[in-house]
Amino acid sequence: MAEFSTPTTEQQFAANFAQLKPVMNRTEALYESSRCLFCFDAPCIQACPSGIDIPQFIRQINSGNETGAARTIYEANYFGNACGKVCPTEVLCEGACVYNLQEVKPIEIGRLQSYATTKVITSGKHLFKPGADNGRRVAIIGAGPAGISCACELRALGYAVDVFEAKAQPSGLTVYGVAPYKITNEEALAEMAYLQAQFGYSVQYNSPITSRAELAALEASYDAIFLGIGLGKTSSLGLPGEDQKNCVGAVEFIAELRQLHHRVA
Ligand code: SF4
Repeated sequence: MAEFSTPTTEQQFAANFAQLKPVMNRTEALYESSRCLFCFDAPCIQACPSGIDIPQFIRQINSGNETGAARTIYEANYFGNACGKVCPTEVLCEGACVYNLQEVKPIEIGRLQSYATTKVITSGKHLFKPGADNGRRVAIIGAGPAGISCACELRALGYAVDVFEAKAQPSGLTVYGVAPYKITNEEALAEMAYLQAQFGYSVQYNSPITSRAELAALEASYDAIFLGIGLGKTSSLGLPGEDQKNCVGAVEFIAELRQLHHRVA
């Protein structure tokens, strides 16, 4: 028998997919940040693929400077909020935390990261602004983490940026490919709106670039094109029956689950 019954209402769906790393309240954040040893060699930074200065932002949280903490995070990773929730922190930063050597619970780095970034997203406090217009235009194909991060960097340098996204919403894998208990659609889209409000790039949704002619048209209109097309279909296993009705890939199933919740057929 399945561990969880199939949800038939929005309330049951929310209960089944309750957030694995819910956002901390201030008391939790102050307590957790006070445990950090601010290690000189900070193995947590070495284990972070985006190299966020983790002890720095934890110290900023602990001193009440949540905006500074968010800036420290976003200067290294524009998907700071999403990564705090969806990254496998237990094998990355938290897996490298020195507390593991003492068999003590590591610092909850991911949740602290989401705490600081959620603060600035919900308050709408801007940390960045576009650079002076340099007269050049760049087209970006794909509004996932690569495309949006590229858009932010280019806008900071003064490029005009238009993003072309095949789907109806931005953030790629974050909204279409990770299990709903890691991050809600609302949280992922709020971070996307927060970045766009600061950097001012345009995004054209439901605009797949599928032909050589369309690409050539972009080449003629822009100084450069960035391809950020990471999210694809689930790789085929080559097994008999894969093409049967109701046999769907994991990514496609999660994408449907995230959009339809308990209404998935
Ligand atoms: S390894 Fe752990 S205790 Fe040391 S700085 Fe990083 S989070 Fe803090």
